[in-house]
Amino acid sequence: MSAAGKPLLGGIEAGGTKFVLAVGHSPTEIIERHEIPTRDPATTLTEVGDWFEGKGSISALGIASFGPVELDRSSPLWGHITNTPKPGWANCNLAGYFAERFGVPIGLDTDVNGAALAEFEHGAGKPASSLAYITVGTGIGGGLVLDGRAVHGAAHPEMGHIFPRRHQDDRDFKGICPHHGACLEGLASGPAIKARWGVSLSELPADHIAHEIIASYLSQLAHSLIAMTAVEVIVFGGGVMRTDGLLERVNQKASELGAAYFPGGSKHKIAKPGLDQNAGLAGALMLAPSGDGYPQRESMMKATSKNSHPRQR
Ligand code: ZN
Repeated sequence: MSAAGKPLLGGIEAGGTKFVLAVGHSPTEIIERHEIPTRDPATTLTEVGDWFEGKGSISALGIASFGPVELDRSSPLWGHITNTPKPGWANCNLAGYFAERFGVPIGLDTDVNGAALAEFEHGAGKPASSLAYITVGTGIGGGLVLDGRAVHGAAHPEMGHIFPRRHQDDRDFKGICPHHGACLEGLASGPAIKARWGVSLSELPADHIAHEIIASYLSQLAHSLIAMTAVEVIVFGGGVMRTDGLLERVNQKASELGAAYFPGGSKHKIAKPGLDQNAGLAGALMLAPSGDGYPQRESMMKATSKNSHPRQR
């Protein structure tokens, strides 16, 4: 507990290249944050734990993690990273390490679901009823919040692995996804761009065909998401999306693909992150279970008690 009497929460945004840590009283009241590079699991988790130990007594911990990660609470493997190609991390008991070390309730979801929750509640989603968060960087991933909750099925979604229609000037590239070749991630992630053109998208001239090709693939994910879920706001984040003009191109192309057909009309929006780089960390803090067992989210508690989303008017 802090001097103010409010419980102290811990948040971990667990990524492939760095872990971002924070303590705070809520997702919007971060007291201190810290970054450490991701190395092997034993070194990394020990260092993360040591940092939290020096910050006082946390009452709950939320983890927004790279995946794939087991999210089924009834599974003996809950909280484990599963079949990641990242050396040493497959089968790592990520949540279990912290549960054992700190003995506090742990909330866990994917990094993109965490970011989607944070953008929904505190960022570009205000005041929408639903939001998807897509990251385009080393890989492509997506999280979806419908009716105030992150969507899970048998596991978490893997939106980066859909198969887009090929661009007419990009028919020969085989794609780099080790599982599917020319899925969206295999065609439009940062490494897929480098594999074709040798540099990042932002390093190519504005009139280079690559901008057109990558935007055409990403717009198909937006179109598919709207077609399948009617989601209101789609946020595109990640390193590749910082390319000048890319979001506008994706927006334009998604609009052309939709051909003014969708009944949601102008309610469907494609946006940049409202929380800039902080969505993942805010999401991690939102995942920390509060004293009554609910995550740190006002609207979810209201939604639960009323059985409807508070933003529905
Ligand atoms: Zn794939």
